[in-house]
Amino acid sequence: MKKRIAIIDRDKCHPEECGNFLCAKLCPVNRTGTDCIAEHEIHKKAKIDEVLCTGCGICPNRCPFQAIQIINLPEALNKEPVHRYGENSFELFSLPTPLFNQVTGILGKNGIGKTTALKIVAGLLEPNLGNWENAPKFKEIIAHFKGTETQKFLEKLEKKEIKLSYKPQQVDLIPKQFKGTVKELLSKVNETDNLTEVVQQLNLSNFLDTEISKISGGELQRVAIAAAVLKKANIYLFDEPGSYLDIKQRINVAKYIGSLTKEDTAVMVIEHDLIILDYMTTLLNVMYGQEAAYGIVSGLKSTREGINSFLEGYLKEENIRFRSYPIKFEKVQDRQVGSKQTLVSWKNLQKKLGNFHLKTEEGELHKNEIIGILGENGIGKTSFIKLLAGLIKQDSGELDEEVKVAYKPQYLETESDHLVMEFLQGAIKKYNQQLIEPLNLTNLLTKRLSELSGGELQKVSIVHCLSQDAELFLLDEPSAYLDVEQRLLISKIIKKIANEREITIMVVDHDLMFLDYLSDRLVVFTGEPAKSGLLKGPFSMEEGMNIFLKDLNITLRRDLTSHRPRINKPGSVKDREQRNNNTLYYS
Ligand code: SF4
Ligand code: SF4
Repeated sequence: MKKRIAIIDRDKCHPEECGNFLCAKLCPVNRTGTDCIAEHEIHKKAKIDEVLCTGCGICPNRCPFQAIQIINLPEALNKEPVHRYGENSFELFSLPTPLFNQVTGILGKNGIGKTTALKIVAGLLEPNLGNWENAPKFKEIIAHFKGTETQKFLEKLEKKEIKLSYKPQQVDLIPKQFKGTVKELLSKVNETDNLTEVVQQLNLSNFLDTEISKISGGELQRVAIAAAVLKKANIYLFDEPGSYLDIKQRINVAKYIGSLTKEDTAVMVIEHDLIILDYMTTLLNVMYGQEAAYGIVSGLKSTREGINSFLEGYLKEENIRFRSYPIKFEKVQDRQVGSKQTLVSWKNLQKKLGNFHLKTEEGELHKNEIIGILGENGIGKTSFIKLLAGLIKQDSGELDEEVKVAYKPQYLETESDHLVMEFLQGAIKKYNQQLIEPLNLTNLLTKRLSELSGGELQKVSIVHCLSQDAELFLLDEPSAYLDVEQRLLISKIIKKIANEREITIMVVDHDLMFLDYLSDRLVVFTGEPAKSGLLKGPFSMEEGMNIFLKDLNITLRRDLTSHRPRINKPGSVKDREQRNNNTLYYS
């Protein structure tokens, strides 16, 4: 049995530019006359024989394009994978199993096979047990899982006793696949009598007659969830249902997804917003492994235990440490407060944009602090940021804008042909150690901006913004497209750089845990989306959260072990206690 896997990123392998298969020339096994590394017959890039490879580590270190990864597998993984995409490519070693009457979560970083695992469970991808050239029959696949819950599940799937419905991750592809209105799409997929109820629960009525191509990302997400729910199924699978939604919508969707379970119905969810995942699920599988190389699904855990193990980077039952450091949350009272020196202030600003009217009360930002911005979609957050950045002018009110601003927009430039190294020139020169290295961007420097994934482009855009010569930095939705680990890493880096450079950073985001982790103070937007918005604050964390949570009608406590914020079950002892004391946010 092989002890290691070799991964080759074909996009990065350029044999004609490295001196004609430099890796093969250096490989000690090749030097003995055996072809451990050779030219692939079809795609003409390098291929590595994983059985012959001794794991000496020469080729991954010497390939000038970092195209090779050689990974020694843990002892326990000396077995065939459940699925492999092809030669020298990603391997998945186990599967999660849906459980009836439960919402089960899948938690893990990007690139370790969460979506692959969900697609196999959904029957959209037939596992090949590592034999991509000669895929096994379904009976052999069932036999592979003998004695496990997965065997029972696959048998039911084969007998057609299970019907699945799947909400894909990439909702932005829907307008490319369907032309017509929201109502037409939902009527086409509807197999139930629940259309009216689903439309109401997911707040779709305002845009039912709008063309699919014209609706926003958040609306598209809710339509995709509705389309999945309108299929008659007994297993519902949701891949990242929280993306593009604001906090209010996320909580609403989480409640709704939670209500789908019945004795004969199971729900599985992949989600990176930990507060929402925690709220929505009762059990979860942690996924770990190495990005773009291999992935393993842990045994089933309670949601609390699963999230805490994930943050700790250690799975107790499996005795596996999959991250060398734990992720820790500080209590608010333990945080260091920045200076009290005013950087920018405003008073009674007003701005009309079409039918939308934005107003502010009086407020000011201090030097060396991070301000979180809370509010629904379409309530003026981005417009306020644009006012501060001088990109638009107020109609009335006072704004002291003697301040240099750097701005990362919500929607990122995806079409540019520029190389990452050109775009990040300033950051490479000045903040290599603070930004480029900790975010692992060195590997991306020779790629074009248009070739980056959503998560890669997000990191590059944040670094570009933070490397500007400015005093006030405005980051609009920096957590979008990032996995939970990247979110927490980026917030750590943002905090560190704010402190070191004594700059002020404002962050608009919908991930409440991300904002809780990052912010020193909060501003809160209230009003009616697309009509009016009122900005209040900045407030202390406690005060700002209390105002915001009152509007959401939820209370937050802290987990005793990890100190992460958790939503209280409505009506629970904690929930009632906190409401009575008017401390909806437990700092
Ligand atoms: Fe050259 Fe690297 Fe490709 Fe090997 S993997 S052929 S060293 S570019
Ligand atoms: Fe050859 Fe394996 Fe060493 Fe690479 S790691 S040079 S493939 S023996």
